[in-house]
Amino acid sequence: MSDALIIVGAGHAGGRAALTLREEGYTGRLVLIGDEPHLPYERPPLSKGLLQGTADLAACSLCDSARMAELNIEHIAANPVTRLQPQQQRLQLADGQWLGYAGLLLATGGRARRLPQAQGNLLYLRTHDEAVALRSALRPGARLVIVGGGFIGLEVAATARSLGCEVSVLEAGPRLAGRVLPPVISQALLDLHRGQGVDVRLNVAVEAIHDDAVQLVDGQVLPCDLVVVGIGMQPNLELAANAGLEVGQGIRVDAYLRTSAPNIYAAGDVCEFRLAGEYQRQETWRNAEAQGRHAALNLLGREVAFDAIPGFWSDQYDWGLQTVGVMSAATVSRVLPAGGLLLFDLDAEGHLQGACGWGLGNSVAKDIKLCERLISAHIPLNPAGLADPELSLKQLLRG
Ligand code: FAD
Ligand code: NAP
Repeated sequence: MSDALIIVGAGHAGGRAALTLREEGYTGRLVLIGDEPHLPYERPPLSKGLLQGTADLAACSLCDSARMAELNIEHIAANPVTRLQPQQQRLQLADGQWLGYAGLLLATGGRARRLPQAQGNLLYLRTHDEAVALRSALRPGARLVIVGGGFIGLEVAATARSLGCEVSVLEAGPRLAGRVLPPVISQALLDLHRGQGVDVRLNVAVEAIHDDAVQLVDGQVLPCDLVVVGIGMQPNLELAANAGLEVGQGIRVDAYLRTSAPNIYAAGDVCEFRLAGEYQRQETWRNAEAQGRHAALNLLGREVAFDAIPGFWSDQYDWGLQTVGVMSAATVSRVLPAGGLLLFDLDAEGHLQGACGWGLGNSVAKDIKLCERLISAHIPLNPAGLADPELSLKQLLRG
């Protein structure tokens, strides 16, 4: 029986878990297996700085190869795990080799959802190599059609405009990023992008994609040089499902990030855990970071329940969006004197559940950090005080 700890998926959560295991004193064999040819890296720059040309792969990497060697982390690259046998505590790689494990972390993330029956020259954006391919196509004057008005669509639109492309965004729903953002923020995004010259169309359906045009169901034709599709993410859960692990929309885990199979944990985009009583996945940097770290602790037998407060950010043009907690509805809003706003979700007793900030640059970061502290403090808040821009959130925290 092997005494190795193995991590499948050398992305953000997997990479963070490997580094944490060493930081926490684990000295045994540690194997990090990835299907990409790169060291673990963070994806947020792929639609921002890396696409813009101001960041490179090294700037996105969690650590360099020298550090990996120093920490004695065996990184197997471009060699996906194809089979998992939980009862035998072993797995097989694409090159045929079998590896046994004492503990396993599945951090297989997800892939870009494909547009059904689409032909033509489509680009997707999930990996570094896809970002590099897209970057080379974003030449000034290029006509870009983006299918999907979620985070990929909007961040790529912002970067492409800044590079001088002509951009259209086609969103199937009635508003931008409608599943995750409050309506007032969707509207702010719509105004921002239209103000920047993006042709944003809502409630549209794509009929066909040709090499030089996108045809809509209503008969309109949009001539273009390039099509980018950002219509969501599909979790990589087949390895776990085929091995008989319990899956829903992701690999199901308990409060300790343990899957239904012994000694197997899951973390990151692929992990379906209970948050506020409901099974859900979080597709965010913050979740990959926190769960990667957390799963590592539990692989070491620490038995710590995962209860991190969720959150994410998005940068578009000069504007920044940040959320923290669980935002079901914006019950209170505060208009910020310098432009932008804060939205708050209070429960019936006045406890803050979630907050969302929208402002120039990083201007809402401090307030969102204070909101996180207000969520943790679990103190009843006065809605009028929250709405009043004259009253600092710090004062509310002090009670
Ligand atoms: P991933 O980073 O996807 O890593 C999983 C890895 O496992 C991948 O390399 C995958 O190929 C590999 N793998 C899969 N199956 C196997 C197998 N069988 N064997 C071996 N390896 C396998 N979040 C934010 O909060 N803010 C942002 O601004 C933001 N920007 C983003 C921009 C882009 C373009 C993208 C794509 C995502 C962005 N995100 C952002 C989301 C964030 O990057 C993800 O939530 C995070 O990367 C998830 O990490 P992960 O480790 O779970 O998955
Ligand atoms: P997403 O955020 O889920 O958004 C996809 C959007 O496309 C939704 O608005 C969706 O509308 C729409 N859509 C779906 N099918 C469509 C169709 N056929 N035609 C037109 N529109 C369609 O997914 P994403 O933008 O592709 O991002 C992929 C992943 O990267 C996600 O995990 C995301 O969180 C992550 N990411 C995060 C950030 C960030 O947090 N800043 C940045 C970039 C990427 P409906 O909801 O109505 O279906």
